[in-house]
Amino acid sequence: MKNIDKTISKNETMDAMILYQQSTPLVFTETNIPEINDEQVLVKVEACGLCRTDLHIIDGELKNPKLPLIPGHQIVGKVVKTGKNVRNLNISDRVGIPWLGHTDGSCKFCLKGLENLCDNPIFTGYTMDGGFAEYTAGYSDFCFKLPQNKDAKSLAPLLCAGLIGYRSYSMIDKYAENIGIYGFGSSAHIICQIATIEGKKIYAFTTPGDIEAQRFALKYGAIWADDSTQNPPIKLDAAIIFAPVGKLVISALKNIEKGGIVVCGGIHMSDIPSFKYQDLWEERKIVSVANLTRKDGFEFFKKIENINIEVKVNEFELKDLNIAINLLRDGKVTGSQVVVF
Ligand SMILES: [Zn+2]
Ligand SMILES: [Zn+2]
Repeated sequence: MKNIDKTISKNETMDAMILYQQSTPLVFTETNIPEINDEQVLVKVEACGLCRTDLHIIDGELKNPKLPLIPGHQIVGKVVKTGKNVRNLNISDRVGIPWLGHTDGSCKFCLKGLENLCDNPIFTGYTMDGGFAEYTAGYSDFCFKLPQNKDAKSLAPLLCAGLIGYRSYSMIDKYAENIGIYGFGSSAHIICQIATIEGKKIYAFTTPGDIEAQRFALKYGAIWADDSTQNPPIKLDAAIIFAPVGKLVISALKNIEKGGIVVCGGIHMSDIPSFKYQDLWEERKIVSVANLTRKDGFEFFKKIENINIEVKVNEFELKDLNIAINLLRDGKVTGSQVVVF
């Protein structure tokens, strides 16, 4: 058979971290290697990054996941089997599987190029199984072909932290010079490097007293880093909020110029407190970023082809994923956490 790597045989099993019930830890389990449909590829996972969204799914802030579920949506791996309708990928191709797992292609949002808002989406590691397992299935049209010569563990965080960070950054007009970033983790340290190359000045805001995160921000290109309770030395043109803390929207709004924008990059955030209309006045804007489009992905990977983005990776074994999850929940992480196989 041409469309299957001979090392995979039917009924073989794999190791996976499985969520059986929200608000309970993942369980290290042996389970069947997934079957693929005609539009999918089977991927042998090389690395899968942990994202704050995984935490929101595990902790129950995002409702109605597929259960039992294998989370994980920053997947890098090799194609080992292709469905019979797959035309764009071959055995041994290296691919990335992102959060947007599939769309219907026919709803009014898909038809106007906003597939990130599709009425009938499938999300990797949420409504279909993801990458915290030795193998995973992905829809070939929604996979990104990735270079073979780069390190899998450094590519994995680009699949969501990078992509959603890039979509957030793209919401800011190109004339913006001074940009605030609230919450300096995986997304921020990737986007900070791209923005800096493009001549932007980044001001990093962290949890009060988190000196380590402030040092981390300065190391990755921020020109100023301080507690989120502090005001920056100048008015900002725009701000991106990656921390899931609603009150930061108000702080950011007060720190931006006339016509500035506050971009909320997370999928879940605590409530935003009420604020004076005066703070929004003069054409300030607040927007959220939801999911990604494939166009974002193509643009993003094209943009970084010739940039050497340094990703700070904290490496974990699959069976130790709950440790990584607890560290992220407790805010004890600088950089990106990645399970490496
Ligand atoms: Zn749609
Ligand atoms: Zn994510």
